[in-house]
Amino acid sequence: MPNAFRGSFFHCLADPGEHADAAAVEYIEDGILLTRNGVVEKLAPANDILPGLSADIEVEDLRGKLIVPGLIDCHVHFSQLDIIASYGEQLLDWLNRYAYPAEQKFADAEHARSVADFFLDELLRNGTTTALVFATVFPQSVDAIFAAAQERGMRLIAGKVLMDRMCPDELSDDAESAYADSRALIERWHGKDRLGYAITPRFALTSSDDQLAAAGKLAAEYPDTWIHTHLAENQEEVDQIARQFPWSRSYLDVYEHFGLLRDRSMFAHCLHLDATDRELMAARGAAGAFCPTSNLFLGSGLFDLRSMSEAGIEIGLATDVGGGTSMSMLRTMSEAYKVLHLQGQSLPASRALYLATLGAARALGLDADLGNFEVGREADFIVLDSSRSRIAARRAQMVSSVDELIFALIFLGDDRHVAATYLQGKRYES
Ligand SMILES: [Zn+2]
Repeated sequence: MPNAFRGSFFHCLADPGEHADAAAVEYIEDGILLTRNGVVEKLAPANDILPGLSADIEVEDLRGKLIVPGLIDCHVHFSQLDIIASYGEQLLDWLNRYAYPAEQKFADAEHARSVADFFLDELLRNGTTTALVFATVFPQSVDAIFAAAQERGMRLIAGKVLMDRMCPDELSDDAESAYADSRALIERWHGKDRLGYAITPRFALTSSDDQLAAAGKLAAEYPDTWIHTHLAENQEEVDQIARQFPWSRSYLDVYEHFGLLRDRSMFAHCLHLDATDRELMAARGAAGAFCPTSNLFLGSGLFDLRSMSEAGIEIGLATDVGGGTSMSMLRTMSEAYKVLHLQGQSLPASRALYLATLGAARALGLDADLGNFEVGREADFIVLDSSRSRIAARRAQMVSSVDELIFALIFLGDDRHVAATYLQGKRYES
Protein backbone atom coordinates (compact mmCIF):
# COMPACT_ATOMS: atom_id res chain seq x y z
CA MET A 1 0.00 0.00 0.00
CA PRO A 2 1.40 3.47 -0.85
CA ASN A 3 1.94 6.33 1.57
CA ALA A 4 0.11 9.52 0.60
CA PHE A 5 0.91 13.15 1.40
CA ARG A 6 -1.20 16.18 0.55
CA GLY A 7 0.14 19.73 0.34
CA SER A 8 1.77 22.24 -2.02
CA PHE A 9 4.67 20.74 -3.99
CA PHE A 10 7.53 22.48 -5.77
CA HIS A 11 10.45 20.83 -7.54
CA CYS A 12 12.86 21.32 -10.43
CA LEU A 13 12.83 19.28 -13.63
CA ALA A 14 15.86 21.08 -15.09
CA ASP A 15 18.13 24.04 -14.32
CA PRO A 16 15.94 27.19 -14.23
CA GLY A 17 19.06 29.28 -14.99
CA GLU A 18 19.57 32.96 -14.23
CA HIS A 19 16.25 33.88 -15.82
CA ALA A 20 14.08 31.47 -13.81
CA ASP A 21 12.78 29.42 -16.73
CA ALA A 22 9.24 28.48 -15.69
CA ALA A 23 9.33 25.28 -17.77
CA ALA A 24 12.18 23.99 -15.57
CA VAL A 25 9.98 23.76 -12.47
CA GLU A 26 6.69 22.25 -11.45
CA TYR A 27 4.40 23.70 -8.79
CA ILE A 28 1.25 21.93 -7.68
CA GLU A 29 -0.64 24.05 -5.21
CA ASP A 30 -2.89 21.25 -3.99
CA GLY A 31 -1.12 18.01 -4.78
CA ILE A 32 -0.80 14.47 -3.56
CA LEU A 33 2.47 12.57 -3.47
CA LEU A 34 2.28 8.79 -3.41
CA THR A 35 5.33 6.84 -2.28
CA ARG A 36 5.82 3.10 -2.13
CA ASN A 37 8.77 1.18 -0.69
CA GLY A 38 10.58 4.47 -0.15
CA VAL A 39 10.37 5.79 -3.72
CA VAL A 40 8.08 8.20 -5.55
CA GLU A 41 5.16 6.44 -7.22
CA LYS A 42 3.26 9.52 -8.37
CA LEU A 43 2.85 13.25 -7.83
CA ALA A 44 -0.25 14.91 -9.26
CA PRO A 45 -3.00 17.40 -8.39
CA ALA A 46 -5.22 16.14 -5.57
CA ASN A 47 -8.25 16.34 -7.87
CA ASP A 48 -6.66 13.81 -10.21
CA ILE A 49 -5.59 11.37 -7.51
CA LEU A 50 -8.35 11.46 -4.88
CA PRO A 51 -11.12 9.84 -6.97
CA GLY A 52 -9.01 6.75 -7.64
CA LEU A 53 -7.46 6.50 -4.20
CA SER A 54 -8.49 3.50 -2.15
CA ALA A 55 -10.44 4.51 0.96
CA ASP A 56 -8.12 2.62 3.28
CA ILE A 57 -5.12 4.76 2.31
CA GLU A 58 -4.61 7.44 4.90
CA VAL A 59 -3.54 10.77 3.40
CA GLU A 60 -1.20 12.79 5.61
CA ASP A 61 -2.52 16.33 5.50
CA LEU A 62 0.26 18.88 5.03
CA ARG A 63 -1.88 21.53 3.35
CA GLY A 64 -0.76 25.11 3.95
CA LYS A 65 2.88 24.05 3.81
CA LEU A 66 5.38 23.77 0.97
CA ILE A 67 6.88 20.36 0.23
CA VAL A 68 10.19 20.27 -1.65
CA PRO A 69 12.78 17.54 -2.27
CA GLY A 70 15.28 16.88 0.53
CA LEU A 71 18.22 19.29 0.43
CA ILE A 72 21.70 18.10 -0.53
CA ASP A 73 24.89 19.55 1.00
CA CYS A 74 27.76 18.93 -1.42
CA HIS A 75 30.65 19.66 0.96
CA VAL A 76 30.74 19.63 4.76
CA HIS A 77 33.17 18.55 7.52
CA PHE A 78 31.45 16.73 10.38
CA SER A 79 34.66 16.91 12.41
CA GLN A 80 34.50 20.72 12.40
CA LEU A 81 31.08 21.01 13.99
CA ASP A 82 32.52 22.18 17.30
CA ILE A 83 34.63 24.95 15.77
CA ILE A 84 31.90 26.54 13.67
CA ALA A 85 32.07 30.32 14.14
CA SER A 86 35.71 30.51 15.28
CA TYR A 87 37.13 34.00 14.97
CA GLY A 88 39.49 35.75 12.73
CA GLU A 89 41.67 33.78 10.31
CA GLN A 90 42.02 32.98 6.63
CA LEU A 91 42.22 29.40 5.40
CA LEU A 92 45.75 28.18 6.21
CA ASP A 93 45.90 29.80 9.66
CA TRP A 94 42.33 28.73 10.38
CA LEU A 95 43.24 25.10 9.71
CA ASN A 96 46.24 25.25 12.06
CA ARG A 97 44.56 27.20 14.82
CA TYR A 98 41.12 25.57 14.87
CA ALA A 99 40.51 22.67 12.48
CA TYR A 100 43.53 20.48 13.19
CA PRO A 101 43.20 20.52 16.99
CA ALA A 102 39.47 19.70 16.67
CA GLU A 103 40.16 16.83 14.28
CA GLN A 104 42.70 15.22 16.61
CA LYS A 105 39.88 14.37 19.02
CA PHE A 106 38.42 12.01 16.40
CA ALA A 107 41.07 9.41 17.15
CA ASP A 108 38.59 8.51 19.90
CA ALA A 109 35.82 6.42 18.28
CA GLU A 110 33.29 7.34 20.97
CA HIS A 111 33.86 11.05 20.45
CA ALA A 112 33.52 10.53 16.69
CA ARG A 113 30.22 8.70 17.09
CA SER A 114 28.72 11.23 19.45
CA VAL A 115 29.60 14.10 17.09
CA ALA A 116 28.31 12.08 14.10
CA ASP A 117 24.94 11.58 15.83
CA PHE A 118 24.60 15.26 16.68
CA PHE A 119 25.78 16.31 13.21
CA LEU A 120 23.35 14.10 11.28
CA ASP A 121 20.40 15.08 13.46
CA GLU A 122 21.33 18.72 12.89
CA LEU A 123 21.48 18.16 9.12
CA LEU A 124 18.06 16.49 9.15
CA ARG A 125 16.51 19.20 11.35
CA ASN A 126 17.73 21.67 8.72
CA GLY A 127 16.14 19.66 5.93
CA THR A 128 19.41 18.27 4.56
CA THR A 129 18.79 14.64 3.68
CA THR A 130 22.01 13.89 1.80
CA ALA A 131 25.55 15.18 2.27
CA LEU A 132 29.06 14.68 0.95
CA VAL A 133 31.09 14.63 4.14
CA PHE A 134 34.74 15.02 5.06
CA ALA A 135 35.58 12.81 8.04
CA THR A 136 39.13 12.92 9.47
CA VAL A 137 42.33 11.02 8.88
CA PHE A 138 41.17 8.39 11.41
CA PRO A 139 39.29 5.44 9.83
CA GLN A 140 37.19 5.13 13.01
CA SER A 141 35.72 8.57 12.31
CA VAL A 142 34.54 7.30 8.90
CA ASP A 143 33.01 4.20 10.51
CA ALA A 144 31.24 6.52 12.97
CA ILE A 145 29.58 8.74 10.35
CA PHE A 146 28.58 5.82 8.13
CA ALA A 147 27.14 3.81 11.03
CA ALA A 148 25.16 6.84 12.22
CA ALA A 149 23.83 7.52 8.67
CA GLN A 150 22.95 3.86 8.14
CA GLU A 151 20.94 3.80 11.37
CA ARG A 152 18.94 6.80 10.14
CA GLY A 153 18.43 5.47 6.61
CA MET A 154 20.18 8.50 5.11
CA ARG A 155 21.86 8.64 1.74
CA LEU A 156 25.35 9.84 2.60
CA ILE A 157 28.79 9.91 1.02
CA ALA A 158 31.92 10.22 3.17
CA GLY A 159 35.58 9.35 3.26
CA LYS A 160 38.79 9.25 5.26
CA VAL A 161 41.00 12.32 4.91
CA LEU A 162 44.37 11.64 3.28
CA MET A 163 47.08 13.96 4.60
CA ASP A 164 50.80 13.29 4.99
CA ARG A 165 52.53 16.66 4.85
CA MET A 166 52.16 20.19 6.23
CA CYS A 167 50.00 18.94 9.11
CA PRO A 168 50.49 17.90 12.75
CA ASP A 169 52.15 14.48 13.21
CA GLU A 170 49.06 13.23 15.06
CA LEU A 171 46.97 13.82 11.93
CA SER A 172 49.42 12.45 9.41
CA ASP A 173 49.04 9.16 7.59
CA ASP A 174 51.29 8.12 4.70
CA ALA A 175 50.85 6.94 1.13
CA GLU A 176 50.67 3.24 2.03
CA SER A 177 48.29 3.54 4.99
CA ALA A 178 46.15 6.05 3.07
CA TYR A 179 45.71 3.49 0.31
CA ALA A 180 45.17 0.49 2.58
CA ASP A 181 42.79 2.24 4.99
CA SER A 182 40.74 3.79 2.17
CA ARG A 183 40.51 0.47 0.39
CA ALA A 184 39.30 -1.29 3.53
CA LEU A 185 36.69 1.43 4.12
CA ILE A 186 35.49 1.21 0.50
CA GLU A 187 35.07 -2.54 0.86
CA ARG A 188 33.22 -2.09 4.17
CA TRP A 189 30.86 0.75 3.26
CA HIS A 190 30.65 1.69 -0.42
CA GLY A 191 27.30 0.74 -1.93
CA LYS A 192 26.00 -0.61 1.37
CA ASP A 193 22.39 0.51 1.89
CA ARG A 194 22.38 4.19 0.92
CA LEU A 195 26.05 4.86 1.61
CA GLY A 196 28.83 5.77 -0.80
CA TYR A 197 32.55 6.26 -0.40
CA ALA A 198 34.58 9.32 -1.38
CA ILE A 199 38.35 9.17 -1.79
CA THR A 200 39.26 12.27 0.20
CA PRO A 201 42.70 13.89 -0.09
CA ARG A 202 42.38 17.04 2.05
CA PHE A 203 43.92 19.22 -0.67
CA ALA A 204 46.98 19.08 -2.84
CA LEU A 205 49.19 20.94 -0.35
CA THR A 206 48.77 18.37 2.40
CA SER A 207 49.57 15.27 0.34
CA SER A 208 52.92 14.02 -0.92
CA ASP A 209 53.22 13.08 -4.57
CA ASP A 210 53.18 9.42 -3.52
CA GLN A 211 49.94 9.91 -1.63
CA LEU A 212 48.24 11.76 -4.49
CA ALA A 213 49.33 8.93 -6.79
CA ALA A 214 47.85 6.38 -4.34
CA ALA A 215 44.57 8.33 -4.35
CA GLY A 216 44.58 8.31 -8.16
CA LYS A 217 45.19 4.56 -8.15
CA LEU A 218 42.18 4.03 -5.89
CA ALA A 219 40.10 6.32 -8.09
CA ALA A 220 40.91 4.14 -11.10
CA GLU A 221 40.36 0.87 -9.24
CA TYR A 222 36.98 1.96 -7.86
CA PRO A 223 35.47 4.10 -10.64
CA ASP A 224 32.06 4.45 -9.02
CA THR A 225 33.43 5.93 -5.81
CA TRP A 226 33.55 9.70 -5.45
CA ILE A 227 36.62 11.91 -5.22
CA HIS A 228 36.18 14.75 -2.75
CA THR A 229 38.70 17.50 -2.12
CA HIS A 230 39.29 21.26 -2.07
CA LEU A 231 40.37 23.33 -5.06
CA ALA A 232 41.61 26.92 -5.38
CA GLU A 233 39.96 28.26 -2.25
CA ASN A 234 42.44 30.89 -1.13
CA GLN A 235 45.05 32.94 -3.01
CA GLU A 236 47.87 32.14 -0.58
CA GLU A 237 47.05 28.45 -0.96
CA VAL A 238 47.13 28.79 -4.76
CA ASP A 239 50.55 30.49 -4.54
CA GLN A 240 51.91 27.67 -2.36
CA ILE A 241 50.59 25.09 -4.83
CA ALA A 242 52.60 26.78 -7.60
CA ARG A 243 55.75 26.46 -5.45
CA GLN A 244 55.10 22.86 -4.38
CA PHE A 245 54.25 21.67 -7.90
CA PRO A 246 56.41 23.93 -10.11
CA TRP A 247 55.68 21.80 -13.17
CA SER A 248 51.92 22.35 -12.91
CA ARG A 249 49.99 24.68 -15.20
CA SER A 250 47.48 25.38 -12.45
CA TYR A 251 46.12 24.03 -9.17
CA LEU A 252 43.60 21.92 -11.07
CA ASP A 253 46.40 20.53 -13.22
CA VAL A 254 47.88 18.88 -10.10
CA TYR A 255 44.72 16.84 -9.60
CA GLU A 256 44.57 16.07 -13.32
CA HIS A 257 48.19 14.85 -13.23
CA PHE A 258 47.44 12.39 -10.42
CA GLY A 259 44.27 10.97 -11.99
CA LEU A 260 41.83 12.72 -9.67
CA LEU A 261 39.72 14.43 -12.30
CA ARG A 262 36.82 12.32 -13.49
CA ASP A 263 33.08 11.74 -13.19
CA ARG A 264 32.13 11.92 -9.52
CA SER A 265 35.00 14.25 -8.62
CA MET A 266 33.65 17.00 -6.38
CA PHE A 267 35.86 20.04 -5.85
CA ALA A 268 34.93 22.44 -3.07
CA HIS A 269 35.31 26.19 -3.72
CA CYS A 270 36.80 26.55 -7.26
CA LEU A 271 37.33 30.29 -6.65
CA HIS A 272 40.63 30.94 -8.42
CA LEU A 273 40.30 29.12 -11.75
CA ASP A 274 40.79 30.24 -15.31
CA ALA A 275 38.93 29.36 -18.50
CA THR A 276 41.31 26.48 -19.30
CA ASP A 277 40.64 24.95 -15.86
CA ARG A 278 36.90 25.25 -16.34
CA GLU A 279 37.06 23.62 -19.76
CA LEU A 280 39.08 20.74 -18.33
CA MET A 281 36.67 20.24 -15.40
CA ALA A 282 33.74 20.13 -17.80
CA ALA A 283 35.52 17.76 -20.18
CA ARG A 284 36.30 15.34 -17.34
CA GLY A 285 32.78 15.50 -15.87
CA ALA A 286 34.09 16.90 -12.57
CA ALA A 287 31.75 19.02 -10.44
CA GLY A 288 32.10 22.02 -8.13
CA ALA A 289 30.70 22.85 -4.69
CA PHE A 290 29.66 26.48 -4.11
CA CYS A 291 30.26 27.30 -0.43
CA PRO A 292 29.16 30.92 0.03
CA THR A 293 29.11 31.25 3.83
CA SER A 294 32.58 29.75 4.08
CA ASN A 295 34.01 31.82 1.24
CA LEU A 296 32.76 35.01 2.87
CA PHE A 297 33.69 33.99 6.43
CA LEU A 298 37.27 33.02 5.57
CA GLY A 299 37.60 35.93 3.16
CA SER A 300 38.46 33.52 0.35
CA GLY A 301 36.68 35.06 -2.64
CA LEU A 302 33.50 35.08 -4.71
CA PHE A 303 32.29 32.02 -6.62
CA ASP A 304 31.66 32.75 -10.30
CA LEU A 305 28.58 30.63 -10.92
CA ARG A 306 27.90 32.05 -14.38
CA SER A 307 31.32 31.14 -15.76
CA MET A 308 31.21 27.69 -14.18
CA SER A 309 27.73 26.96 -15.53
CA GLU A 310 28.50 28.34 -18.99
CA ALA A 311 31.53 26.06 -19.14
CA GLY A 312 29.17 23.13 -18.59
CA ILE A 313 30.23 22.20 -15.05
CA GLU A 314 27.58 20.83 -12.69
CA ILE A 315 27.43 22.79 -9.45
CA GLY A 316 25.99 21.92 -6.06
CA LEU A 317 25.53 24.20 -3.09
CA ALA A 318 27.37 23.43 0.16
CA THR A 319 27.70 24.69 3.72
CA ASP A 320 31.38 23.78 4.28
CA VAL A 321 30.81 23.81 8.03
CA GLY A 322 33.01 24.58 10.04
CA GLY A 323 34.56 27.17 7.64
CA GLY A 324 30.93 27.77 6.71
CA THR A 325 28.80 29.46 9.33
CA SER A 326 25.45 27.70 9.09
CA MET A 327 24.14 24.16 8.81
CA SER A 328 21.07 25.58 7.07
CA MET A 329 20.92 25.26 3.29
CA LEU A 330 18.29 28.03 3.31
CA ARG A 331 20.79 30.41 4.90
CA THR A 332 23.40 29.12 2.47
CA MET A 333 21.13 29.93 -0.49
CA SER A 334 20.65 33.48 0.81
CA GLU A 335 24.42 34.00 1.03
CA ALA A 336 24.82 32.52 -2.45
CA TYR A 337 22.39 35.13 -3.72
CA LYS A 338 24.50 37.92 -2.17
CA VAL A 339 27.80 36.52 -3.49
CA LEU A 340 26.36 36.45 -7.02
CA HIS A 341 24.70 39.85 -6.66
CA LEU A 342 28.11 41.38 -5.88
CA GLN A 343 29.30 40.08 -9.25
CA GLY A 344 26.32 41.34 -11.25
CA GLN A 345 24.78 37.86 -11.43
CA SER A 346 21.33 36.85 -10.30
CA LEU A 347 20.04 33.84 -8.42
CA PRO A 348 16.27 33.37 -8.69
CA ALA A 349 14.60 31.38 -5.91
CA SER A 350 13.96 28.41 -8.18
CA ARG A 351 17.61 28.21 -9.15
CA ALA A 352 18.78 28.50 -5.55
CA LEU A 353 16.58 25.54 -4.73
CA TYR A 354 17.84 23.72 -7.84
CA LEU A 355 21.45 24.06 -6.63
CA ALA A 356 20.51 22.30 -3.40
CA THR A 357 18.29 19.59 -4.96
CA LEU A 358 18.39 18.40 -8.58
CA GLY A 359 21.53 20.40 -9.43
CA ALA A 360 23.39 18.95 -6.46
CA ALA A 361 22.16 15.47 -7.35
CA ARG A 362 23.49 15.95 -10.89
CA ALA A 363 26.80 17.23 -9.57
CA LEU A 364 27.10 14.06 -7.50
CA GLY A 365 25.93 11.80 -10.33
CA LEU A 366 22.89 10.81 -8.25
CA ASP A 367 20.12 12.43 -10.28
CA ALA A 368 18.64 9.07 -11.24
CA ASP A 369 17.99 8.56 -7.50
CA LEU A 370 17.54 11.99 -5.95
CA GLY A 371 16.72 15.62 -6.53
CA ASN A 372 13.03 15.86 -7.45
CA PHE A 373 9.67 14.06 -7.34
CA GLU A 374 9.91 12.22 -10.65
CA VAL A 375 8.65 8.63 -10.58
CA GLY A 376 11.18 6.23 -9.08
CA ARG A 377 13.21 8.83 -7.19
CA GLU A 378 13.94 8.10 -3.54
CA ALA A 379 11.26 9.79 -1.47
CA ASP A 380 13.40 12.15 0.61
CA PHE A 381 11.51 15.40 1.11
CA ILE A 382 10.96 18.22 3.54
CA VAL A 383 8.04 20.32 4.67
CA LEU A 384 8.65 24.08 4.82
CA ASP A 385 6.39 26.19 7.01
CA SER A 386 6.50 29.99 6.95
CA SER A 387 4.37 30.22 10.06
CA ARG A 388 7.25 29.10 12.26
CA SER A 389 8.49 32.66 12.80
CA ARG A 390 6.64 35.94 13.11
CA ILE A 391 8.50 37.73 10.36
CA ALA A 392 8.35 34.86 7.82
CA ALA A 393 4.65 34.36 8.56
CA ARG A 394 3.97 38.05 8.02
CA ARG A 395 6.00 38.16 4.79
CA ALA A 396 4.26 35.02 3.47
CA GLN A 397 0.93 36.80 3.64
CA MET A 398 2.20 39.41 1.18
CA VAL A 399 3.47 37.11 -1.56
CA SER A 400 1.69 36.71 -4.88
CA SER A 401 3.59 33.70 -6.28
CA VAL A 402 5.36 30.58 -5.12
CA ASP A 403 8.66 32.06 -6.31
CA GLU A 404 8.17 34.99 -3.96
CA LEU A 405 7.27 32.64 -1.15
CA ILE A 406 10.40 30.53 -1.65
CA PHE A 407 12.59 33.62 -1.99
CA ALA A 408 11.28 34.96 1.33
CA LEU A 409 11.81 31.57 2.98
CA ILE A 410 15.39 31.51 1.71
CA PHE A 411 16.12 34.84 3.37
CA LEU A 412 13.98 34.58 6.50
CA GLY A 413 14.02 30.82 6.99
CA ASP A 414 16.25 28.45 8.91
CA ASP A 415 15.89 25.18 10.81
CA ARG A 416 12.76 26.48 12.56
CA HIS A 417 10.94 26.59 9.24
CA VAL A 418 11.65 22.96 8.39
CA ALA A 419 8.52 21.47 9.94
CA ALA A 420 9.39 17.88 9.05
CA THR A 421 11.96 15.80 7.20
CA TYR A 422 11.10 12.54 5.43
CA LEU A 423 13.57 9.84 4.44
CA GLN A 424 12.31 7.27 1.93
CA GLY A 425 8.74 8.34 2.65
CA LYS A 426 9.06 8.05 6.43
CA ARG A 427 9.08 10.98 8.80
CA TYR A 428 12.38 11.26 10.63
CA GLU A 429 12.23 11.83 14.38
CA SER A 430 15.56 12.31 16.14
ZN1 LIG B 1 35.98 22.28 3.28
